[in-house]
Amino acid sequence: MDTCIFCRIAQGEIPADIVHQDADIVVFRDLNPQAPVHVLAVPRKHIASLTEPGAADGAMLASVFRGVQQIASKLGLEQGFRVVTNCGEFGGQTVGHIHFHILGKRHMQWPPG
Ligand code: 5GP
Ligand code: ZN
Repeated sequence: MDTCIFCRIAQGEIPADIVHQDADIVVFRDLNPQAPVHVLAVPRKHIASLTEPGAADGAMLASVFRGVQQIASKLGLEQGFRVVTNCGEFGGQTVGHIHFHILGKRHMQWPPG
C-alpha cells in the first residue's frame, strides 16, 4: 500500500527511530510517546486491523510476540510493560495498519481511558 504510513516506514521510505527489525516485523519509537518507552511493533505485511480475515494468523502473531520479547529485553523492561492493539473507531485506532504498542518504564493504570 503506497499511501500507508506504516508500510512506508517498514520499507524505509519514511524515517523512524527503529529499535528492532527482522524479516516479518519492524519496531520503532512512537512519534507521540505515552510512556518513557513507547514503541510500535508492526508486521511488514499490510493488515488493516485485528478484524481483517487472517489477521489472527499464528505466524504473524508469533513474529510479533517474539519481537516483543526481544524488545522487552533490549529496552530494559524487566519491571513490566504493556502491549496494546487498538482496533477500529471505538478501540481508538488511528493508523489503518495493524500495530502493537509496547509501553514501559512507568506504572500503568487500569482501566485504560
Ligand atoms: P493507534 O492510535 O492507531 O493505536 O496508534 C497509532 C500510533 O502511531 C500513535 O501512537 C501515533 O503517535 C503513532 N504514529 C502516527 N504516525 C506516526 C509516524 O509517522 N511515525 C511514528 N513513529 N509514529 C506515528
Ligand atoms: Zn500498511
